[in-house]
Amino acid sequence: MSIFNLDILERELSLAKSVAITGHIRPDGDCIGSCTALYQYLMDCRNELGLEQIDIYLEPFGQEFNILSATDIVRHSYDYNDTYDVLITLDCSSLDRLGHATKYFKSAKRTICIDHHITNNYFADVNHVVADASSTCEVIYNLLDYNRITKEIAQSLYLGIIHDTGIFRHTSTSDKTMEIAASLIRKGIDFTKLIDETFTQKTYAQMQILGRALFESVLLMDGKIIASSINLDTMKFYGVTHTDLDGIIDQLRTAKGTEVAIFVYETEDGDNKVSLRSNGLVNVSKIAHFFGGGGHVKAAGFSIKGTANDAIASIIPHIEEQFNSEQEIPNP
Ligand code: 5GP
Ligand code: MN
Repeated sequence: MSIFNLDILERELSLAKSVAITGHIRPDGDCIGSCTALYQYLMDCRNELGLEQIDIYLEPFGQEFNILSATDIVRHSYDYNDTYDVLITLDCSSLDRLGHATKYFKSAKRTICIDHHITNNYFADVNHVVADASSTCEVIYNLLDYNRITKEIAQSLYLGIIHDTGIFRHTSTSDKTMEIAASLIRKGIDFTKLIDETFTQKTYAQMQILGRALFESVLLMDGKIIASSINLDTMKFYGVTHTDLDGIIDQLRTAKGTEVAIFVYETEDGDNKVSLRSNGLVNVSKIAHFFGGGGHVKAAGFSIKGTANDAIASIIPHIEEQFNSEQEIPNP
């Protein structure tokens, strides 16, 4: 009986004794959900596959994600003496997005990349990239044997899907996404709790910084662009870290009449992290890609040096260019 609906994955894993699972820097819900789902599935099948060691490496993430099983075993520190037969990267479009786990990638005997980013550059030995999937969790779901998906695995997959689709609102949501969500609900998951506790609820400090970012936002290009930024001093003032800024960009995007939302925050190393969202007319993945980043047509990002205002100013000509070329953007 097949454990995976992808022969090469089954073959690679049955030849391995040790596996490391990792995802992109500043992990989001889809990244954490897909890593914990695959980990639990591999743990349940480890005897059949002959696996002796399975670890997850991720950068620190918001404590709301601890609602998922297996988040307690995630390693946030890196002992480079460990090497793995197979390293699997999830939700990661390029090697520069792996952060500290890159060393494990380089020392692993075989590497596998499972992802859904249109900008993925096929950097592993085996690449399984489904660009029209809503999320990496949707890709993972399709690789697994439904009968072996436990309630805990279903929770991880469902969480990833709701985070990457903005709770089934983004155009990346398909009929298949909804069917997958239904079959995960059939596993008995508490989806209301997952949505409330990881998506809707905010700490007081998170609400304050959201309010600050909205209050200080500016409209550019006759209201077609909304932009805002938060620097490290402001984050310190409210006692928040970058994980508390999730959701600000999606709130900016809801401003009526805007086509593109830009949110910039200062990182510890003095860079700026830029998030871009499009309401349909502009392909932001193209812009992010130009600046060395990536993502999806309607949600993308990159890092850039300089001031936040310089970052915003450098993006505007790219948006103008797309408006002037009247191109059609792919869906999603
Ligand atoms: P966010 O704005 O929420 O950080 O990211 C939106 C999308 O763009 C996500 O799919 C994320 O993986 C991708 N993305 C964000 N920043 C970067 C980046 O610096 N490089 C690449 N390759 N992708 C990014
Ligand atoms: Mn994703």
